Amino acid sequence: MPTFLNSELSRLKGIGPQRATLLAERGFHTLADLLDYLPFRYEDRIRFTPIAEIVPGQFFTVQAEVTSAATIKFARDRKRMFLMKVRDSSGILSVRFFFGAYLEGRLKPGMRLVLHGEVRMDPFRTARREMVNPEYEILSNSTEAEDADFDSTEVGRIVPVYEAMGGIKSRLLRRMIYGILRDAANEIPETLPEEIRKRYALPSRREALMYVHFPPANESLELLNSFRSPAHVRMIFEEFFFFQLGIAARRKEERAQAGIPLQVRDDKIRSAIKRILPFKPTAAQKRVLAEIAGNLEGPSPMNRLLEGDVGSGKTIVAFEAAVIAIENGCQVAIMAPTEILAVQHFLSARRIFAPVGYRVEMLVSGMKRAEKLAALERIHSGEAQFITGTHALIEEAVEFKRLGLVIVDEQHRFGVLQRKRLMEKGASPHVLVMTATPIPRTLALTVYGDLDISVIDEMPPGRTPVSTRWLDEAQLPGAWESIRREIAAGRQAYILYPVIEESKQELKAATAEFERLSRDVFPKLKVGLLHGRLPSEEKESVMERFRRRELHILVATTVIEVGVDVPNATIMLIEHADRFGLAQLHQLRGRIGRGSEKSVCVLVAPKNITGDARERIETMVATTNGFEIAEHDLKLRGPGEFFGTRQHGDLSFHVAHPLRDHKLLELARTEAFAIAQNPERAEELRKLTAQLGAAWQKRYQLAAVG
Ligand code: ADP
Ligand code: MG
Repeated sequence: MPTFLNSELSRLKGIGPQRATLLAERGFHTLADLLDYLPFRYEDRIRFTPIAEIVPGQFFTVQAEVTSAATIKFARDRKRMFLMKVRDSSGILSVRFFFGAYLEGRLKPGMRLVLHGEVRMDPFRTARREMVNPEYEILSNSTEAEDADFDSTEVGRIVPVYEAMGGIKSRLLRRMIYGILRDAANEIPETLPEEIRKRYALPSRREALMYVHFPPANESLELLNSFRSPAHVRMIFEEFFFFQLGIAARRKEERAQAGIPLQVRDDKIRSAIKRILPFKPTAAQKRVLAEIAGNLEGPSPMNRLLEGDVGSGKTIVAFEAAVIAIENGCQVAIMAPTEILAVQHFLSARRIFAPVGYRVEMLVSGMKRAEKLAALERIHSGEAQFITGTHALIEEAVEFKRLGLVIVDEQHRFGVLQRKRLMEKGASPHVLVMTATPIPRTLALTVYGDLDISVIDEMPPGRTPVSTRWLDEAQLPGAWESIRREIAAGRQAYILYPVIEESKQELKAATAEFERLSRDVFPKLKVGLLHGRLPSEEKESVMERFRRRELHILVATTVIEVGVDVPNATIMLIEHADRFGLAQLHQLRGRIGRGSEKSVCVLVAPKNITGDARERIETMVATTNGFEIAEHDLKLRGPGEFFGTRQHGDLSFHVAHPLRDHKLLELARTEAFAIAQNPERAEELRKLTAQLGAAWQKRYQLAAVG
C-alpha cells in the first residue's frame, strides 16, 4: 500500500536528483528509510555556554556571530588556515580551522553560528582562548517563513547532530527528518512482536523514533550520548533482532538444503590420513578435525570457520579434511590471498600428498598461457584432485568436475563476494574458511552469524614464544650483529620495510635498503629481495632459494605477511615498525618462532612516538598472544576498520554497535533463534521476515559467507 512514508526521498524539498542518488547509494530510498538514520550525538542548545565562561581543555557549544573571517597563508609550509572571530553578548572567541581554506566565502561576517569543539590556549598569544577545528552549523540568517518553521529544531532544545552524507549536512538532514516526523509519525508501523516488546518494556517504534531524533528537553544528555535511553535501546535491539532473524532463517533453509554427504568412517580414509601426517597432531587439531568430519558426513553442506593463531597449524587440518573429500571422489580447492602462499600450499601439498598419490594442481594469474590452459583442462576433467590457487580460481574460465570442498585460507584477506564466488564453482560444496584473526564471541555472532566456529587454541609442541625488542635507529648495528650471530648458528633472517621504492614519505624502502645491506652491512652473506612488484617467476625463485637455505637473509615488504612458513628463520627485523598496523605486525612476527629454536623480533621505531603507534609497539613487546592483540587492535581501530577488507555495507548497523551493545545482541539473538527454530512459529517467522527490505537480504547473504 503506497503511503506517505513509502514515497521517494526526492519528493522532499532540498533533494534534487544528485542528492537523491547520493542517498540511494547509501540505502536510503524512501522517507521511512531516512528515519532509520539516527543522530550520532546530541547537543544541548537550551543553554549555550557564554563565551566568557569558556576554559581551555574542554569541549563547548557556543552560539555566536561571526565578526571577522579570513584565510591565512603560511609561506613556509603552504598550509592554509582559516581564522575567525566570533562574539556573543559575553565576549569574543577566536576560531581556527587548520587546512580551512575551503571555508573561504562559506563562513562570513554577520552569520549566526553554533560551534562545537575543543577550546585551547592560543599557542601564539597565551592568555587567549581559541576553538580549534570545531563542528559548525550556520543558523538561519534570514527571515523567510520556511526557515522560521524549522528554527525550533536548531536552538532552544536538545539538538540531534547527524553525520553529514557527502554534501548533505546535519542541518538539512535534521530538517528533513523533522518534517517527515511532523507529517507522518502516525503512519510509523510497529515491527517487533508485541510479546517481546512487552517483556523487555521497549517503547513502540513510533515513540522511539520521535524520541531519538528529537528528545525532550528534560532528558539526560549523557544518557542520550551513550545511546542508553529506552528509545535507543529499542532501536538497537530491533536492528540486532532482524539481523539475527535473517541469519536464523537462512540457517534453517541451509540445514534443509542437500549437501554432499561424505563417507568419513572408513578404514581407507583413516589410513590415508595416517600416511600423510608428518607429525603427531595436537589435541586441538584432532578435536577440530572431528568437528569438521561431523559436518562432512552430515546431510547439509559444511559452513565452518577455523580460527587459530598464526603458527597454530591450521594447514594440516585443512589437508586432512581434503583427504576425506578426495577419498570420496571429490575435488578440493584451496584459495590463498597471495601468490607466494598459493605456491607454498602447492609445494607442501605435493610433498604431503605424495604417499597417497593425489594429483595436485596450481592456478595463479602469473602463469604462462599454455600452462594455464593445461591446468584448466585437468581441473575440468577431474584429473586434478587438489587445486591450490589465488583469486585466479574464481575466474570465469575455471570449471570443476566435482568440487566437494572449498577451503579459503586467510579469509580475512578476501572480500566476501570472492569467497562466495568460489563456493559457487561447485554444487553446494562444503566450505572451510580459515583465519588467524581471533574474533571475540560477540563480534563473531554478527560477522559470522551463520558459520559454525572451530578454534585451535594450542600451539604445536616445543615452541618458545618469540621475544620482541623495541630499538631505535641508532641501535641498528646491534641488531645487525644479532642477525649475523643467528646466521652463524645456521639460521635465517627477515628484514622488512613498509615500502618497495623510496618516495617523498622519507621511509626506507626495500629495494634501496637491499642494495645497501648486501653491499655494506652483510657483504659476506647471501641476501635476497622479495616484494609484490617482482615478476611471478622471480618471486617464486627467491622464495624457493630462501626455503632451501641458499639465502641467509630475505629483505621483503609485507608480501610475506600471510602464511609463509620457513621454520628455520629465527630473527626478524622490522624497520619503521610504527608504520604498521597491530594485526599486521602480529602476522609478520608469526613468520618466525615456527620451529623449536628461540626466535627474536626486533621492532625499529623512534623511542619518542606517541598515541596509537606507541600503544601498538608496546602491545607487541608485551605479548605474543593473538587474542590479546586482536582485542587491542579492535579497540584501537573499531570493528569497521578491523575487518577492513570486507565489502562496504555489511558491518554497518545504523545504531547498533556489536561491541558496545553486546548484551543486547545476545538477547536479540536468543529471541530471534527462538522464533526461527520453533516449527510452530513458522507463520510468525514468515510475517517478520517479509518486513525486511532488500538491503537486509543482502546483509544476510554476506553474513552467510563469513
Ligand atoms: P598456520 O595456522 O599459521 O597456518 P601452519 O599450518 O603453517 O600454521 O603451521 C605452522 C608450522 O607448524 C608448520 O611448519 C607446520 O608444519 C607445523 N606444525 C603444525 N602442526 C604441528 C604439530 N602438530 N606438530 C609439529 N609441528 C606442527
Ligand atoms: Mg596458514
